[in-house]
This record gives sequence, C-alpha cells and structure tokens, in this order.
Amino acid sequence: MDHFLYRDGVLHAEDVAIPEIAAAVGTPFYVYSTATLTRHYRLFEEALAGMPHLVCYAMKANSNLAVIRTLADLGAGMDVVSGGEYRKARAAGVPGDRIVFSGVGKTAEEMRLALTGGIRQFNVESEPELLVLNAVALSMGLRAPVTIRVNPDVDARTHEKIATGKKENKFGIPIGRARAVYAEAAALPGIEVVGIDVHIGSQLTDLAPFEAAYAKLADLTRQLRADGHAIRRLDLGGGLGIPYERSNADPPLPADYGAVIRRTLGDLGAEIEIEPGRLIAGNAGLLVSSVIYVKSGEDRDFLILDSAMNDLIRPAMYGAHHDIVAVAEPAPGTALHPYDIVGPVCETGDTFARQRAMAPLVAGDLVAFRSAGAYGAVMASEYNSRPLVPEVLVRDDHFAVIRARPSFDEMLKRDSMPEWLQARDDA
Ligand SMILES: *Cc1c(COP(=O)(O)O)cnc(C)c1O
Repeated sequence: MDHFLYRDGVLHAEDVAIPEIAAAVGTPFYVYSTATLTRHYRLFEEALAGMPHLVCYAMKANSNLAVIRTLADLGAGMDVVSGGEYRKARAAGVPGDRIVFSGVGKTAEEMRLALTGGIRQFNVESEPELLVLNAVALSMGLRAPVTIRVNPDVDARTHEKIATGKKENKFGIPIGRARAVYAEAAALPGIEVVGIDVHIGSQLTDLAPFEAAYAKLADLTRQLRADGHAIRRLDLGGGLGIPYERSNADPPLPADYGAVIRRTLGDLGAEIEIEPGRLIAGNAGLLVSSVIYVKSGEDRDFLILDSAMNDLIRPAMYGAHHDIVAVAEPAPGTALHPYDIVGPVCETGDTFARQRAMAPLVAGDLVAFRSAGAYGAVMASEYNSRPLVPEVLVRDDHFAVIRARPSFDEMLKRDSMPEWLQARDDA
C-alpha cells in the first residue's frame, strides 16, 4: 500500500494535491511520501521482531538527505556503496556504528574515510580488498570490522543486470573458497572478522532463491564457527521486489521474507542485518510529468512528455514497466486509447511504454509514473543538457523541496573553458 490516492478526482500525495506541487515547482518532479517510507521501514522491523537485528537501508535506491534522515530517525542503519554515500549518511546524521560499507571496488581512500568517521562493518568482496583494508587499518592503528561477502551461486531469477549471486557475477567470493579466505582474514592483524554477508540480487519476486541462499549461509556459519571464527553477525543483503504492475501477482511481503530468515537462520543466535532499498523507497515515490504534445503518427499516437530517459532510466535500461496514471482521475467507464509514451530525448530508447491503454489526454495534462521512488532520481543524468528534476517530500498536508532544480546558469558554470579557448569570449 502507498499513500498516492485519488481524492475528489485528483491524485494526492498523502494530503497534498499533486497539481498544487506542480504549480509550485514546475514539472517534471519527483515526489516522495513520508508515510509510505515509514510504513515500509516498519514492515521490515516487524518482520524481524524478536531477533536481534538492524535494518540497513540501501542508500543507492534513493540517497536524498531528507529521505535518509527520515529513515534514520526511525532507527534505520544505512548500507553505503561509495565514499559519497558514506558522507551523505554522516551528513544526514547517521552514526558510523549504524553504517555498513558494501561494494566490489572500495578504494583505500574510502576505507580511510569510513575508519575515521566510524563504521559498523565493511562487507569485503575479495582477497585483494581484504589485504588493502588490513594495511589501511594498521596504518591508522585500528582493526577494521568485516564480514566477507560470499557468492552462494544461487539464481535470483531476476533481470540479468541486477542478479548478483551467480558464480559468473563480479560479487563476493565463491562460497567454496570461504573457509580459506576466513582463515586468511583471521591471520591479518588489522582485520576483525564479525560475520558473513550475502546479497543475491534485486527485484526478487520469489522467496525460493532467498531460502536457498540463506540455507547455504546457515551451513557456512556452522562450519566457520567450528573453524574457530566469531560469526556473530549475518548480513543478508536486500533485494525483495515490489509490484511495478498492479495487474500482476504481488511479490512476497516483508513478513513472509522474515519467516524465511527465521526458519533458515533463526536458531544461530546471530545478529541479523538486512539491506532493503527498493522495497522501502520504490513505491514511496512518483515522477510527475506534463504532456507536451499528443502527436499522431502513421499507425499510432505518441504522448510526448516533459520527462525523459535521463530522468527515469529504468524503462530504457532494464525494459522496466512503470504504471503511468493521469493526475486527473478519468471518469469511470472512459474508453481507453493506446499511446506510445515517450520523452523528448533524441533516442528511440527514450520510450517509457508502447501501446499503453490510457484515458485520452491532451497537451498540458499531468501524468504520474508510479513506483519511481527507488532507482529513479539517483540514476538521473543531464543528458541532452536537461536539468536534474527536483525532488519533493510530503508529510501529511505539507510538502518541501528537498532538492531544487538547478538553474541553467549553475549548469553552465560547471563547465570551464581552457585558457586557449578563452580569447573568443572576449572577442
Ligand atoms: C543494491 C543493493 C542492495 C539493495 O537492493 P534492493 O533490491 O534495492 O533492496 C542491498 N545490498 C547491496 C550490497 C546492494 O548492492
């Protein structure tokens, strides 16, 4: 459930009418619901109730400072994958001991940053990384807390670009090598092994791959403990999927996911960490856009919007589906019309939907992309020199701009002329 509902024929975000925000900030814009973010976070909290745990929101899904602080204020930890995300988490007020650091390519500089500011653990993904982290920690007179990410060779049955748990993927160490790598880690004076990490992919709509991965993790935990390692923490990654299409069967709920965790790992006495991103933020956001033109082609009509692939890349990148709805609720029984829904960018890939049945729309109408709160604004670019779209956060009947649209002057100032080209400006 989200908090984007029609009221008196107009789509609202909580108690705020979408056209009111559009009038204030212009389109396109992203809008997020505090109540939905809160609800989704709490579903995970409830799913793990009774087990020692920390829900570490995967910031890469949506890393606006206001979103991070909203979740941090509820008690969330953060899963970061870069020095930039680490800095954002700290800037939003998240204490270091609630931040876990994931990613296959952490640099020595990023490690130093996190060790200086405080870190709950590094999720180490390779032996070379382990050696660098050991050296960095020793140079600072510290021991770095680590879990090692194992690749359980489980098929997550999701889009190939976001499956991470098969042996051919770049992530983690092969589970078969885990004992050797833990032995190596235990011998490094700058490393403190605290647990094991696994993350098999994103947008999983079936619990079976989680169950398979977590069963392997339970066996590995027992084995490594028998080898003498202090495995007190199990980081289970993120990946639970969301319903992008209302008409489809709904993916499993956090409570069902929690039951899998309890069943496979609950008797190990380990602290459980999970790293959900998409399920917390995805259905907590809309991308709102205006129709610029309705263009009649030879055999189809195009809805040309003022948002494009640079603002929301998921359809172009993953062939992803987003429900697109009119902000003014169509009258019941309105005959639907098929449109190809596209943006203004000069690529055929800039297509959001083909032959999508919609109530008829005209230039100036507002539409909203649902499920745009995760992997939306964070993946946006300024391709075609289109400014990044603003982000707005709603709480009850209030809204606030949480990232302003850059001005064209700001965009121009980001580039600079080399000295040998400057003469022309003066000419
Ligand atoms: C992307 C990612 C997540 C979050 O995945 P979601 O599908 O958004 O829940 C969690 N952990 C790691 C290591 C990731 O790379």
